[in-house]
Amino acid sequence: MRGVAAVPSYVVMQPTTLCNLDCAYCYLPFRAADRRMPVPVAEAVAAAVNPWATAGRFSVVWHGGEPLAAGREHLAALLAPFGPEVEHHVQTNATLIDDAWCRFFAEHRVRVSVSVDGPRERNGDRVSRAGSPAYDRILRGVDALRAHELPFSALAVVSRPEPGLATELYDYFLDLGCDVLGINIEETEGVNTRDNSHDPADVIAFWAELVAAWRRDPRIHLREVEWSLRYAAAVLDGVADDVLPRRLDPIPTIGHDGSVTVLSPELAGFTDPRYGDFSSGNVLDTPLAEILAGAERTPWVGEFLAGVEACRSSCPYFGFCGGGHAANRYFELGRFDGTETEHCRNSKIRLLEGVLEHARDHQSPAV
Ligand code: SF4
Repeated sequence: MRGVAAVPSYVVMQPTTLCNLDCAYCYLPFRAADRRMPVPVAEAVAAAVNPWATAGRFSVVWHGGEPLAAGREHLAALLAPFGPEVEHHVQTNATLIDDAWCRFFAEHRVRVSVSVDGPRERNGDRVSRAGSPAYDRILRGVDALRAHELPFSALAVVSRPEPGLATELYDYFLDLGCDVLGINIEETEGVNTRDNSHDPADVIAFWAELVAAWRRDPRIHLREVEWSLRYAAAVLDGVADDVLPRRLDPIPTIGHDGSVTVLSPELAGFTDPRYGDFSSGNVLDTPLAEILAGAERTPWVGEFLAGVEACRSSCPYFGFCGGGHAANRYFELGRFDGTETEHCRNSKIRLLEGVLEHARDHQSPAV
């Protein structure tokens, strides 16, 4: 894997910067302001995306702020320029989902992913602007999805991995009825400066326990565990070099104003005296395909690619990880050409070690 691909497998779109919640660990700047994406931005992105979606599977992920805070009418206007082959996804806090939104998702074939951190007492960080717990409103939204028989994914943030938590979470999400689950150990990035260092043994035990819970009843696609098992199987088959893509997926994030930030959505909206606003161009001035073709010339991207090479030559986990995420390097290390971060320790290195620990603990005795 070297360099950045010119064609992504998905784009992230920010229909509004506004969020109706104020979660304690949120990385987003401007989430109290309603800066909405104008329709010409969506038209410009669709001009590039529609041919890509005709050639192969392609997704648009609507991610805010809270994308539903843009309102159904505006979101429909932003969806309109995209062709029928494009798969749409929305990442939402679910608090605004009602029957009308469920009809909207069905009509526009939008796949929903809900952010919820587990049972009520695990959602203390998910609060309204007035500081009141959002859990009941989140569940009302999930109930509406279930009543309309709309399949949904879930994304949970874990702030403190601790014994017993993984089993509790997995059982909760089995009951909730999601068919895909992603687990993010909280990251220090964006405007969230909370510490994300943990006792390594706790993090390894968390992942090992999650694998054990999943193996007992593997009804949910558990994102991190499936990544790890795919990698472990490739190592056993001697094809580990084929796990990573040939080139990095640029994952362009299209900001509300049309600016394009590659590789890490979390960098969008930030500026730095050294790196500027991190954007590689704006779709209102330049076609998206042209911006992506030149993305490697964005100064911070070149520095990040040097960091990926440093990872390749120094880290035994590179074949699984591929060099980590740009935003974690920037927000933890202050630059892009470093290597290990707390994020990669928590979510790559200790994830793989947890899966291996589970395998060691459950291997058949030698005969
Ligand atoms: S685990 Fe960390 S140090 Fe290793 S390749 Fe990934 S980002 Fe680099």
